[in-house]
Amino acid sequence: MILLRGGTVVTMDARRSVLRADVLVAEGRVQKIGRVRARGAKVIECAGKAIIPGLVQAHVHLCQALFRNQADGLPLLEWLSQHIWPYEAAHDARSLSFSARLGIAEMLLGGTTAVLDMATVHHTEAVLEAAAESGIRYTGGKCLMDVIPGPLHEEAGAALEETVALGRKWHGRGLVRWALCPRFVLSCSEKLLGEVRRLSESEGWLVHTHASESRTEIELVRRQTGRDNIEYLADLGLCGPRTVLAHCVHLSEKEMRLLASSGTSAVHCPGANLKLASGQQPLPRLLAEGINVALGADGAACNNTLDAFHEMRLAATLHLPQFGAQAMPASEVLAMATVRGAKALGLSDSIGSLEEGKRADIAVVDLSGPHCQPGGEDLHATIVYCARASDVTDVLVDGRPLVRARKLLTLDAAKLAASAAPEARRVLGRAAAHLPGIGSATPE
Ligand SMILES: [Zn+2]
Repeated sequence: MILLRGGTVVTMDARRSVLRADVLVAEGRVQKIGRVRARGAKVIECAGKAIIPGLVQAHVHLCQALFRNQADGLPLLEWLSQHIWPYEAAHDARSLSFSARLGIAEMLLGGTTAVLDMATVHHTEAVLEAAAESGIRYTGGKCLMDVIPGPLHEEAGAALEETVALGRKWHGRGLVRWALCPRFVLSCSEKLLGEVRRLSESEGWLVHTHASESRTEIELVRRQTGRDNIEYLADLGLCGPRTVLAHCVHLSEKEMRLLASSGTSAVHCPGANLKLASGQQPLPRLLAEGINVALGADGAACNNTLDAFHEMRLAATLHLPQFGAQAMPASEVLAMATVRGAKALGLSDSIGSLEEGKRADIAVVDLSGPHCQPGGEDLHATIVYCARASDVTDVLVDGRPLVRARKLLTLDAAKLAASAAPEARRVLGRAAAHLPGIGSATPE
């Protein structure tokens, strides 16, 4: 038993209740919220701290954490083809495992407890093993791309065969869940996308893909398919409550209605959209349409941070010049990083809010620092506008403490940080050897 004592509980329940209360955690669940006396419980003192649901990032690429600061100043398609695809292709199981652990360490220390990830094409189990080792709540899968030539190209049959085998092996193992991850329409044949739909139906796996991120991309999709991106996905039967579409920056009115009526989730990734100069998702319009919009940092190679607080602050402020000062209330933004994220992952019943009976995915945030004081009436606002990832002191996932007093317990964060540069040099060196002219680092 663990007792989080004396904090302010930001429940994110349907009423968005904020309570001065203790939280008792036992058997992986939130057992009680209120005044609790629990003999024998391990106590975490939370005075001056907010106890919030663990943050959910519904679009990340752990495989790219090692490529942080290596591909700046480029728009999406050049960034992908000149840097990210060759880098991903140069991964071996060791570098991929390292990248995943580096990204997970950053996210757990910053209060992110659940992710929807897109791995790369090869060595996917290195990511799954790293996720299992870390204790994070992981949903994700092997990246599928069968039409773009190059080292990440696979025939549809082989790609699907591997994704099915890995999905059946890993889905439901501990906190790991499998997702079907076609990269985006431009990298996938219609045959592959059709099989993805069929598998999602038969196996119950999420479909996690990118859609309508940049103007060049949607123009190419139009040329290739004769339709707008979301219309094309809907025609293939790929819109629905099991589908999560990262970005959705450039949408027609009809596409917004399609997302809403089908129950498809969109993921807002403002940091990545700004840095790749992709544009700005009309987030308040999507929410007004009734679309479930979650939040995600995307990759450390395009953001260049995996900090959910950074994304929340951007989501809360970016849209105000266009839509007005009241367009994005802080509680709505925190909902995107908690309950709406949980809904996107199909986990609304178990995580996303702090309520008795739910799984105990929890972050404790210290609001006593000068950058958070004086706190106002609205604690949601203090968390969204003022708090930082480094204010997170404790993290529980499924009731298990993974961060205690700002120290990550399951991975050696300091060692990962110290070893990141030489690990990156090795993989970027391999990439450069295959494609001269790319990569900013030289091999050792
Ligand atoms: Zn992405």
